[in-house]
Amino acid sequence: MADMKITMLGTGSPRPEVSRSGPAQIIEWNNNRILFDCGEGTTGQLLKAGYTPESVTHLWFTHLHSDHTFGYGQFLIGGWGRGRSELTVIGPPGTKAFHEKILDLYKEDIDYRCSLGRSEKGVKDVHVIEVEEPGKVENPLGVQASAAKMIHNVCTYGYRLEIDGQVLVISGDTAPHEGIVELAEDADLLVIDASLAAGEQSGALAKIWDHLQKEHCTAEQAAEIAEQAKVKKVIFTHFLPEVDTEKAYQEAKPLFSGELIIPEDLETYYVAKTTAELGG
Ligand SMILES: [Zn+2]
Ligand SMILES: [Zn+2]
Repeated sequence: MADMKITMLGTGSPRPEVSRSGPAQIIEWNNNRILFDCGEGTTGQLLKAGYTPESVTHLWFTHLHSDHTFGYGQFLIGGWGRGRSELTVIGPPGTKAFHEKILDLYKEDIDYRCSLGRSEKGVKDVHVIEVEEPGKVENPLGVQASAAKMIHNVCTYGYRLEIDGQVLVISGDTAPHEGIVELAEDADLLVIDASLAAGEQSGALAKIWDHLQKEHCTAEQAAEIAEQAKVKKVIFTHFLPEVDTEKAYQEAKPLFSGELIIPEDLETYYVAKTTAELGG
């Protein structure tokens, strides 16, 4: 069995800050890698985590919000510049148009680099697959995967992957709902939006707090979902700069009987092995 692991490249939110990069995480098993989301700073975070961007040839978007896609131009063109010659991008409807707009924005730049002799492979022939409907996700890696619609303000997919008997679920951004509980049922690891984890609320944030409840989870809600789905381990993510992680942990822990992780950027976890099993 190939142990699957996940590195939390960016655990931040749309609000820029020093310690948390834009939303992104990468999974790895055997020599396979899939990047999930590509927020601001993802390429630099990949490098810091020991992954060359050109070695990452599969990217799945949960949704196309700016905080999950700002890093795409750099990942696409920077990775190509370093020698990536193929790339598959999977995401919700709109992913093709998004990719083509980025290509169009940088057309002159790309054409200039090609005129110097660089191959167009890996940039002009990107394989974009739109997941039209929830359900099975066809993918060139042949990974057993399914998508379910989350509750957010644009089409957002949570993904469930089963690889060598290990089950990983990534929620993307979502308010609490039955669909994420179903998707995550009995998973080894659930990575879930806990944007509304406790913290100091700035005035601007307080104004939209009620609205945010319709699109994201609090720490308690994320813990309740993990408990209802009977997942073994949960990782919270998508933190606002004001988050008080200690408080979030204290609020969530009594509601979840498995292992609860509130990560920092660049931390790596095994999907099926618990931290205790690893002696950590
Ligand atoms: Zn979002
Ligand atoms: Zn987001």
